[in-house]
Amino acid sequence: MAGILSAITLKEAGFDDFTVYEKGDSFGGTWRENTYPGLSCDVPAHLYSYSFALNPQWSALYPPGPEIRGYFEAVAERYGVVGHVRFGDEVVSCVFRDGRWHLTTAAGEHDEVDVVIAATGVLHHPKYPDIAGLDTFAGSMFHSARWDHGVTIDGARVGVIGTGSTAMQIVSAIVDRVRTLTLFQRTAQWVMPGINPPYTDEERATFAADRQAMEVVRQGVADLFDHFSDGIINAGSPEMAMIEQFCLDNLETSVTDPVLRERLRPDYRAACKRLILSPTFYQAIQKPNAELVTEAITGVEPGGVRTADGQVHELDVLVLATGFHVDAFVRPMAVTGRGGVELDAVWAERPGAYLSISVPDFPNFFMLNGPNGPVGNFSLVEVAELQLHYIMQLVERLRAGTNREISASSRALEDLEAARVEAAKNTIWSTGCRSWYLDDRGVPAVWPWPFSRFRSEMEEPKWEAYELIG
Ligand code: NAP
Repeated sequence: MAGILSAITLKEAGFDDFTVYEKGDSFGGTWRENTYPGLSCDVPAHLYSYSFALNPQWSALYPPGPEIRGYFEAVAERYGVVGHVRFGDEVVSCVFRDGRWHLTTAAGEHDEVDVVIAATGVLHHPKYPDIAGLDTFAGSMFHSARWDHGVTIDGARVGVIGTGSTAMQIVSAIVDRVRTLTLFQRTAQWVMPGINPPYTDEERATFAADRQAMEVVRQGVADLFDHFSDGIINAGSPEMAMIEQFCLDNLETSVTDPVLRERLRPDYRAACKRLILSPTFYQAIQKPNAELVTEAITGVEPGGVRTADGQVHELDVLVLATGFHVDAFVRPMAVTGRGGVELDAVWAERPGAYLSISVPDFPNFFMLNGPNGPVGNFSLVEVAELQLHYIMQLVERLRAGTNREISASSRALEDLEAARVEAAKNTIWSTGCRSWYLDDRGVPAVWPWPFSRFRSEMEEPKWEAYELIG
């Protein structure tokens, strides 16, 4: 998504000497790597689209994953990105030497460039659970982001570990296909009810004929998300209380068995973890062939999963919907900045970057959706567009020759980081739960201010925050 966007933006700014390095064999990023049943995006598609390439053909408010992937592929095709992409080769190192970045790929190719835009994504390094005996499982086992379509789940006894957004989508999508579905829940989730109305042919025709009609839908969703983002950064806000009440009502009215209801009841604030949006999960878990297991997993055996009560849950297929290593960012690529400084060393404690974009001493290396940015329930497409608008101003300054090297100053990063950590204390993410938003200190690794402030920060760089050389 962000790489395609970069290519289009560079082309429009008159650059023609650039390459997009793509480790995969096709476009799509997260939408290529995730192919699990039920895959979708909980940001409505009209907002999860490039602002310059609105799509009148979205089939529903939350269309299925393959449709989203198709959209990105079609846009890449339409804007002539394909010719700029080198597929199937991974950049393994970037070294800043003599004022330029020297890139090496896994295939041993070398390239030399003036500027690197790292559009490497956030949720793409699968996290496998540390469970004793995992490798001994005799059935089929795979991570949700590595779905094995060669494995038949129809009529099978399927177990799912995890109750994040991914697991909830999978459970709802497969429960009617499998013989038994066993969901291993370590932590209960707050579930927002939702509806996913398909767009009618008539609506799609209106969108196609009148861009303004699409803009209205998009703006409506954007306003709603802005409102949510204003609430989420203030744990005591009425918005957060309202969301919790919605979720609570959903639990009370959707789950009929009082025992199951209690087992599904979270003991932390709603939206502290990534909020689940699902019109179908509670129905799915109440199906006769579905079982919720809340006993802790003690190990995996050839026949299935053993829990603390000594029971072995017999399974044919085990799905690990256990999330991602979210602090990797551009890694495992080895990035070496000015004076031989290694990004791995700079990020030894945790990743950081000024405004998520620039790291001191890594000149002309700019990240999209980098560390501590707005990842909490926003459209990452919109986030990337805003960031790229900002980055292009840094790039233009280099192109104009005003400076040869641009990277954030250490002081600017330290000051912003101190303010960010302080502001993060007030957010809903800090109210006491385990989630992938939290860093090793338990500080939410996200943007803790209103989204409107992010928008205005991205309008224009504050040049005094940068070390400008040459
Ligand atoms: P996740 O939110 O990190 O959830 C991982 C789940 O695995 C959690 O329930 C976790 O339990 C559980 N888990 C991990 N290790 C375990 C272990 N050893 N034993 C038992 N349970 C274990 O990952 P995700 O569901 O893949 O979602 C990641 C993010 O991707 C989402 O938050 C969202 O940003 C994005 N996503 C979005 C959508 C969408 O619709 N937009 C869909 C899918 C994913 P605990 O809760 O106890 O830690």
